[in-house]
Parts: sequence; C-alpha cells; structure tokens
Amino acid sequence: MEFKTIIEPFRIKTVEPITMSTVSEREAFLKQAHYNPFLLKSDQVIIDFLTDSGTSAMSNNQWAAIMQGDESYAGARSWDKFEKAVNDLTGMPYILPTHQGRAGERILYSHIGGKGKIFLSNTHFDTTRANIEYSGATAIDIPIEQAKDYASDYPFKGNLDTLKLKNHIDTHGAKNIAAVILTVTNNSGGGQPVSMQNAKDVSAICKQHQILFVLDCCRIAENSYFIHEKEKAYSQLSYRAIAQEMFSLADGCIMSAKKDALVNMGGFLALRNKELSDACMQLLIITEGFTTYGGLSGRDMEAIAVGLQEVFEPDYLNYRIKSTKYLGEKILKKGVPIIYPVGGHAVYVDAKKLYHHIPVHQYPGQALVCELYKIGGIRSCEIGSVMFGKYDDAGNLIPAPLELVRLAIPRRVYTQSHIDYVVEVFDEVIRTKQNVKGIRITKEPKFLRHFTAHFQPVN
Ligand SMILES: *Cc1c(COP(=O)(O)O)cnc(C)c1O
Repeated sequence: MEFKTIIEPFRIKTVEPITMSTVSEREAFLKQAHYNPFLLKSDQVIIDFLTDSGTSAMSNNQWAAIMQGDESYAGARSWDKFEKAVNDLTGMPYILPTHQGRAGERILYSHIGGKGKIFLSNTHFDTTRANIEYSGATAIDIPIEQAKDYASDYPFKGNLDTLKLKNHIDTHGAKNIAAVILTVTNNSGGGQPVSMQNAKDVSAICKQHQILFVLDCCRIAENSYFIHEKEKAYSQLSYRAIAQEMFSLADGCIMSAKKDALVNMGGFLALRNKELSDACMQLLIITEGFTTYGGLSGRDMEAIAVGLQEVFEPDYLNYRIKSTKYLGEKILKKGVPIIYPVGGHAVYVDAKKLYHHIPVHQYPGQALVCELYKIGGIRSCEIGSVMFGKYDDAGNLIPAPLELVRLAIPRRVYTQSHIDYVVEVFDEVIRTKQNVKGIRITKEPKFLRHFTAHFQPVN
C-alpha cells in the first residue's frame, strides 16, 4: 500500500528560525524594497523560493565531513576524496575544482570560444550565455518544438532538436562550432528533463563531426530520476548508473555544485582530453587557484564528495521530485496555470495567463511576485519581461516570449506543511486576482536589470 503523504526522508536536528510577519508589515517591507524582492532582507521572507542554488540543507554526514577538511595548499586529502567522487561519477580523468559553475564556464568557454565561434544548446543558462557572448562567440538555443507547448505532457521537453543541430552544422561548418551543450535538466526551459536517447543522438552527431559535447550537469540526479521513470529501457537501472551512462556520452561537463551536490558553494569542470585540460588548468591557476583546490577550501570539497553520493539515494530523489510535483499539481487543480509537466527543481507559473487583464508592458510576472510576497511572505522570481525584456528604438518594450514566475524549491529545507501553506496562499491569489494592478519600472540599470530595478504599482 502506498500512502499519499510525502514524508521527508530525514529528521531535523538543527533548526533555523523563520521570522513571521503580517500582511501590513510585508506591504511596508515591499515598498521599502521598491517592489523588487531581490532587495528584501531574508528575515523579511517566510518561504524563500527565490532559487534552489546554494540553498540546500546539508546532512549530518556532510557536516561531519567538513570537520575532516584538509586545508593544505597542495595535495590535500580532501582533494583526493573530491577527485575520486567526481571521477567515479563522471568517468572523466581531468577534474578542475571551481568556486561555482560559472567559473568553470568562464575557463572552458573563454578558451574554446571567441569571435566567429558558435555554441549550440537545448537552452543556454544565463551565465552560460553571458560567458560565451563575453568571449565574442554566439550562443544559439535549439530546444525541441514540444518545449513550447505547455498543455502537452510530452515527457522530455528538455530535449535538443537534433534536426536543427544538423542544419546548423551544415550551415556554419563543424569547425566553427565550438561546442554543443546539453543542459540537464533544462533550467531556463522550465526544469524539463532530457532523455538518454536524445543525449545519445546528440553525442553521435558530435562524434561524427568531431564537435566537443559538454554536459551542463547541475541537476543530473533529478534528470536521472525522470529517465528512470519515463524512459522504458532505464527503469531497472539505478539513478547513479543512469547518470554515469549519460556522462559516458560526453567529452566534458560543468557542474554548479550549488544544485545537485547539495552544498552551498562549489563546482567543477571535468574533461576527457588532456590537451584541452592542460590549457584550462593554466586558466584555473591564474584565476581560481592551484589545481588541487581551485576555488574551493578543503572542507568544501569534503561536503561535495558526500553530497554527490547522497543526491542519488532513491529515498531522497523520490521525495525531491514528488514534493515539487505535489506543489505544482495542487495549484494547477486550483486553476493556476503552470508549465506542465512539473520539472525537477521548480514550479513555473504562467503569470500572463493568470493575470490576463494586465498587459505585458505592466509586467504581470512582477505583479504576481509582489502578490505572493504580500499575501504570504513567499519570495519568488520573475522570469519574463523584467528579466529578458528589451526596448526598441522608440523606447517601447519588446517583451519576452513568456511571463513566468518561478517557485524554486531549496533541497531538504522545507517540509510538507510549508508547501501546504504555499498552496493555501494561492487560494488567496486566485480569489483576489481581478483586483491586482500592473507594475511599472521607475529606475533600472543597463544590464541584468531584474536584480536592482525599482518598481511602482500602476494606479
Ligand atoms: C546555476 C547554473 C549555472 C551556473 O552556476 P553558478 O554556480 O550559479 O555559477 C549554470 N548552468 C545551469 C543550468 C545552472 O542552473
């Protein structure tokens, strides 16, 4: 018999208090923060769904490992453990420790990028795209068509369109393509998974044309869960074995350990080719640190080595994916439009559909972000025209294709009662949706405006 309640597969040994607040207090906090939740203080937040990055709770075993940290400059024991953990998982011989994912991206993509080079991906994450474009190269997203269809329950909407991949290779020539990057799961594409078949197809095409194939593997364990569940040939394999098979198809990988390594800081770049790795090691030493610690302290490497084991435990992954799905399906049932099926690390709400009375130049996503905070103290993140909108020559907004709000769920942090509270907050969001007004920008920086812009409700 299977019970419906998803109990957390852990007991709580240390607690971090949440500061409770009232609606009127939150209205004042929001005004002080210029209606931008990035400018709130964490103590003003009840449930923090801003990001799943670096917000995981560590286990007793990870904290114990931290005490084993060997902080020697070179050849530390902690490095041996870290290197072994990454090598066992990825099968890649050359491992470069970095302080977080984007440092690995900067090292690899500045080396292989540059003017005239092209990168192709199911979807480049924003730091990935920024590092590629900063080198002078071009980043092109080629997700499958089904990725855009929310209503469809196609199981692998994170897949890369292999026909488009072949066409780009024909058009630009294989030698101008610096790399093909498969992001698993596809974060910017709604946290949707990539199938093993798609990874195999991409790998075969890259091999045939001698193009570097890189996995952006931040959420490889969550992706393996979906493969196990939805791809027939893999239902008998362990999550870890599935991940190992996917790594075996790639020439290199970059991981932000702040996601599926269950730590608060860290990352790595791993490669199969010695020449490429030698060149990257030079950059690592110049900008991160010596090869046996890079951007990490010994204790960080210890915690990552343990986290990379724990994240593949069936009880953990089952709870992780089921609890994300629980939140998504509960609010969907109440009539909140979301990206479906629910991905691994977050629920994405379609704010344009929810607030269809708010025009896109009044940022329905930002309006929902403010409502969620005001009503329930929930902090979320707009992924729409505030984040990606541009202006035309006349100063009119060129909106983003979608107006989403992301509820990203930190790993092992919130319990089912926290999630049920969030579901209840959505009751009020729905009840009051007609009264919600749009938002206008009163001050904005030139780049990455969502972090620091100021807003005002429209009267
Ligand atoms: C978070 C993330 C990165 C960047 O990692 P940081 O640790 O934030 O630098 C790259 N790619 C994806 C898919 C991510 O989610």
